[in-house]
Formats: sequence, C-alpha cells, structure tokens
Amino acid sequence: YTGKTGSELLTDKIKKLSVRDYYSVPVVVNDQAHAYDAITTMFLEDVGTLFVVDQHGILVGVLSRKDLLRTSMGQQDLTEVPVHIIMTRLPKIKVCQKDDLLLDASIKLIENQIDALPVVQEHERGLEVIGRLTKTNITKAFVGLVNQDRI
Ligand code: ADP
Repeated sequence: YTGKTGSELLTDKIKKLSVRDYYSVPVVVNDQAHAYDAITTMFLEDVGTLFVVDQHGILVGVLSRKDLLRTSMGQQDLTEVPVHIIMTRLPKIKVCQKDDLLLDASIKLIENQIDALPVVQEHERGLEVIGRLTKTNITKAFVGLVNQDRI
C-alpha cells in the first residue's frame, strides 16, 4: 500500500499517458495546393486542422478552419490562392513527438489556444509528419481513465 490518496493516484496515472497511445493519422495537403483543395480535403476527411507538407512529407505549415474561412471571406478565387500564403508556417508551428507526455501536449494546446498539434519525427530534411494530436484525442484519453477503472 502506497499511502497515496485517490487524487494522487489519478495524477500519477495522468502523468504516465503518452502521446504515442492517443494520436491519430495526419491529414495533409501538399504545399502546392490551393485554398479550394484544402477546403475540400477538410470536408472529405472530416478534420479541423490540416498539415501542409512538401513533396518529402516534411512539415511546412498548418491550416485551421478559421484560416480557410478568413480566405473565403475575401473576393479571391479560392482555386487561385496558394495554401502557403494563408497557412501558419515554421518556426511558429507548435509540434509534439510520440514520446511526449499527453499532459505536456495538452498544456501546449491550451497555452497556444490551438486545436491540434502535428506529431513529428526529426528527419535530416526537417520534421516529418507522422500523426495529429487534437483536443478530441485528449477527450478520449480523459474518458478512457474512467473506463479503465470499470474493467
Ligand atoms: P480555428 O482557427 O479553426 O479555431 P485553431 O484554434 O487550431 O483553429 O487555430 C488558430 C490559429 O492557430 C490558426 O491561424 C492556425 O493556423 C494556427 N495553428 C493551429 N494549429 C497550430 C499549431 N500546431 N502551431 C501553430 N499554429 C497553429
């Protein structure tokens, strides 16, 4: 018996959760794509955040719903607007890695007021995108903590 309170045990459990067990497949668009392609991909893939990658799968940008809505409010032809002029780009992109604690990734989402982080792996060319971690993944982890106790 450890003598820990219930809430200490819960804290210990939360501090062991790792990004690797909760992330989803990334949805990406090529850096040559246009806003119209990105909007179509967002609907078809049913995600709120897209990662923009070069031809090697290396991260170059992030596109959120609001980035695309903002662009749509203008008078431009969306098939003519390149994603690289509307995306958030490096070095401003917040990322996480598979081995990061889910708690640290959650803090990053909150502090930066964003919905998703690309899960990346360092590569000689840059950061390769291997996954996406969203608020939904964290909500699932939260519910999972309760369900573990029911088994
Ligand atoms: P939405 O704009 O749909 O509410 P977010 O809150 O995630 O979605 O995005 C807010 C802004 O932050 C957008 O301009 C977006 O490009 C940017 N952003 C989203 N995710 C990241 C990230 N991981 N790193 C840096 N900027 C991001």
